[in-house]
Amino acid sequence: MSTPERKTQKPARRYGRIYLIVVTSLVVFLPMVISTSVALARVGGGHSYGGGGSRGGGSGGGGGGGGGGDCAAELVCVLFQLLFQLTVDHPVIGIPIDLFVIALIVGGIVITRNSRSAAPPIVYSSQRRGEEAPARMAPVGEDAFEALRHYDPNFSQILFTDFTYALFARVQEARGRKELPEYAPYLAPAVIKGLQGMSGPDLRGVTGVIVGASRIVSVSNPERPKILIVVEFETNYTEEFGNGRSTTWYTKEQWTFVRNRDILSRPPDKITAIHCPKCGGALALTADGACQHCGVKIVGGDFDWFVTRVNVLTRENRGPLLTQDVPEVGTDWPTIYQPHFNAVRQRFLAMNPNFAWPRLEGRVRHIFLELQAAWTERRWEKARPYVSDSFFQMQLYWMNAYQKQHLRNVLKDVQIERVEPVKITMDAFHDALTFRIFASMIDFTADEQNHVVSGNPNSPRRFSEYWTFIRHRGVNSSDKDNVHCPNCGAPLKVSMAGVCEYCHGKITDGTFDWVLSRIEQDESYRG
Ligand SMILES: [Zn+2]
Ligand SMILES: [Zn+2]
Repeated sequence: MSTPERKTQKPARRYGRIYLIVVTSLVVFLPMVISTSVALARVGGGHSYGGGGSRGGGSGGGGGGGGGGDCAAELVCVLFQLLFQLTVDHPVIGIPIDLFVIALIVGGIVITRNSRSAAPPIVYSSQRRGEEAPARMAPVGEDAFEALRHYDPNFSQILFTDFTYALFARVQEARGRKELPEYAPYLAPAVIKGLQGMSGPDLRGVTGVIVGASRIVSVSNPERPKILIVVEFETNYTEEFGNGRSTTWYTKEQWTFVRNRDILSRPPDKITAIHCPKCGGALALTADGACQHCGVKIVGGDFDWFVTRVNVLTRENRGPLLTQDVPEVGTDWPTIYQPHFNAVRQRFLAMNPNFAWPRLEGRVRHIFLELQAAWTERRWEKARPYVSDSFFQMQLYWMNAYQKQHLRNVLKDVQIERVEPVKITMDAFHDALTFRIFASMIDFTADEQNHVVSGNPNSPRRFSEYWTFIRHRGVNSSDKDNVHCPNCGAPLKVSMAGVCEYCHGKITDGTFDWVLSRIEQDESYRG
């Protein structure tokens, strides 16, 4: 090494020491900031399907009240900028520090989570080392699914979510009944073993399984013959034990689903029936693990999605933190339009000649207002006719969480500023239309004594969100208004299963009209 080079390294080394101090500060602050679950005000507030975790991400602040949180977040930002600069200017020093910091952050999260959990994180995996680590997988965006649809034209993000949601609940219930081996066509042996060992021999049942949020964390490269999708769930369930004891858990866990790329996904009416992936018969295995109906032993993702890994990140008795003030993020960010949105819109209109924007926009506004009201009044059943089954269930989780903590999230003076279409997708079964909605409202959380615990009851909060509505592909739009059944026209009255009490038509799956399928916040919406 030449002298000049050594010379230039000297200041870098000095920087190195400074940055070690920076790193140490990061170690102190980051787990603090990250571990603070963020408040979840309003409908779909950051716990949306497809959204990016809690509202405000990790920047919600570490302090109890006042501006402490912002300060910590800012400090972290500054530290990150410094580190970034170092990496650019002196990659030899910067990159190892980056790696070190990443390791510390990951370590910090694990440590923090450990200390908060009543039980340690549990990882069940049958994934072979280096098979395809999530880190090498593509970030999630519609383009990954478009590419996948090239091989599996039936693939639908909406249906995939419904499937993972159904499988999660069925697997938990089967765990309680000690019937997990029946699920071998969907779960790797190591996953079954891990889940069986979770709660001891006294376990008699798992009930009340609710998925409060589920989002796709990553999708592997669709150009490879095997597809991996990692899904993160936020869930709530109750374990019942032999002596009459029961424990309610809130968990956050990641499940890895693997499947051969070139399989055709099941149609909507079959996707949530967790049956033999080969023949569609009810799950029942022979002694050697083959299907009793078709005789095929399913050992991987040859016929359907197969879980190779369950990673329980947190499992605790305490519900989500609902009392923290979180600054609104991203309201002024530029709108994310689908690439070539105008062309897609023209194509959609050509395929749906009786589609009318004003009618749908009217429905979007109506649903928006109805949902805020149903949420505030804690009469979520009022929202039932307007939202998909998964969305309805997910929101119930949050309503229950508020109720259990004796809290009330009040939304008032709701004003819709603007409703803007930004994306249209058409998969084999559904049309999906996403709007960015700008609105403002008073949004605060109060306890039973009407003490305000977060938010501001006197000043409205301006925000924007991306709302996605779905309907069956090519359905002739209903000409009914929004307070009558879109099928039979009777006054709107639906069962909890989303069925009209008059015509018995299922009106919450998009057969007759658009229903809300997900809400995403600015900071998590990726187009
Ligand atoms: Zn079979
Ligand atoms: Zn009806």
